Amino acid sequence: MDLNIQEISQIIKSRLDNYEFKVDSDEVGLVLESADAIARIGGLPNAMIGEMIEFPDRKYGIVFNLEHDELVVIILGKKTDVKAGTWAKCTGRIMEVPVGDALLGRVVNAIGEPIDGRGPVTITKHRPVEAKVPGVIDRLPVDQPLQTGYKVVDGLIPIGRGQRELIIGDRQTGKTTLAIDTIINQKHTGVICIYVAIGKKSSSIVEVQDILTRNGAMDYTIIVDASADDPASMQFLAPFSGTAMAEEFMNEQHKDVLIIYDDLTKHANAYRMISLLLKRPPGREAYPGDVFYLHSRLLERSARLSQELGGGSITSLPIIETQKGDISTYVPTNVISITDGQIFLQSDLFNAGFKPAINAGISVSRVGGKAQIEAIRKLSGKLRLQLARFKEKESFTAFASELDEETQKELKRGRILVEILKQDKHIPMPVEEQVVSVYLAVSDILEDMDVASVREIESKVLTKLRADHKELLAAIKDSQKFSKESEEQLVPVIKAILTQYSTQKG
Ligand code: ATP
Ligand code: MG
Repeated sequence: MDLNIQEISQIIKSRLDNYEFKVDSDEVGLVLESADAIARIGGLPNAMIGEMIEFPDRKYGIVFNLEHDELVVIILGKKTDVKAGTWAKCTGRIMEVPVGDALLGRVVNAIGEPIDGRGPVTITKHRPVEAKVPGVIDRLPVDQPLQTGYKVVDGLIPIGRGQRELIIGDRQTGKTTLAIDTIINQKHTGVICIYVAIGKKSSSIVEVQDILTRNGAMDYTIIVDASADDPASMQFLAPFSGTAMAEEFMNEQHKDVLIIYDDLTKHANAYRMISLLLKRPPGREAYPGDVFYLHSRLLERSARLSQELGGGSITSLPIIETQKGDISTYVPTNVISITDGQIFLQSDLFNAGFKPAINAGISVSRVGGKAQIEAIRKLSGKLRLQLARFKEKESFTAFASELDEETQKELKRGRILVEILKQDKHIPMPVEEQVVSVYLAVSDILEDMDVASVREIESKVLTKLRADHKELLAAIKDSQKFSKESEEQLVPVIKAILTQYSTQKG
């Protein structure tokens, strides 16, 4: 409709006449005390636990304790110079972080601000860092694989989408590498990855980002970094922020997400520090009593959603660092009991050159074979049995001077098997190639070869298949089965390489 100038001014005038002058009754309080990124605030009687509090210069904090006539707030952000005497305001909102596709490829801090020097992120949506977890009927059982690309994991300790699998081990045993390589292996699978770094040196984050970028994995990955230089409040918040970002992809886009918490030992330490500063009573090993609740609340959010809710999943790989392999301390026992299985990495294996340094005997996945393709499941039964038998024989014969021929043969077979389970970093293996390798390990076909030569032979077989027998690999991949025909096609290829190898060496 067309309005002339008089009519427009008439409308404006009538609106102005009816205008009621209203003062927004925002509560404003006062910072009474502020030190160590913790502030005591007076004059905000209606604040809630977990609520976001605003300070001057767009600084924020989270309400941590409600006391008689004060609030205790942990201050977020690098700059923790919220001084006594400044104002503080309730926001009426639970702490929230930016979420969405725009974060992919970026490194952000615990409140979702980019810290990679690549400019601002355009964000239209936020999600609370704490959220209600899907109930039992909203969840589907875990039965779809999330492959790590490591033969020993996908073969013996398979992880499914929606599962929580703990990676646990001493310092420098390959924990981060296993997690990062699992991210690399998600290329072309549509799985979104989130790597949450807690309490690490900034240089190690740069390294992780560099490895992911070089392997083309940053495109589908978000790094949430609360480094050792950040205040404990940021380290405490980071895994919850990362999970909120994951939930956006699962709940709204119905995608599969992999989230890594590296590591929850440092997370528990940050929480302990905050709690001690707040003078909460320390419990076992000086941790606050609710550290179990803290981690279960976090890991409960991993799930596979039902069809009614549109599907999607969050798989989590929490990492725990142990001291001298001791898993019986407070935080490790907690997280072991919360997760659906654990992968044990051992220093002695690592130092002896067995990488990944996984102790397959004591590692478990409680979801197990349901999350494996049939081809691997069939072979892995044999693998597990032969490995267990070998370990048993090995320890029995450790001090024997004379061994009969049959025992010697069996020990050698075991050594070949263990040799094939070794794998270099950053080159995760597609599942159809894993089938071939595991077949080499369990089938006796390498019986007459030197143990030292089997990895070279494995590599030659795979190179040959990739070059001249693509259809064989494709058949395994597409059918997810390792059929009699596939085996009949594979054996001559292997035999030809063995003959060639022996004549070259001879
Ligand atoms: P930290 O306790 O310091 O966090 P970590 O347990 O996370 O250590 P990583 O940093 O993953 O261990 O690995 C330690 C070293 O071992 C790194 O130099 C890494 O490159 C190397 N490494 C890990 N796995 C393998 C592998 N499969 N093959 C070869 N090298 C590996
Ligand atoms: Mg690490």
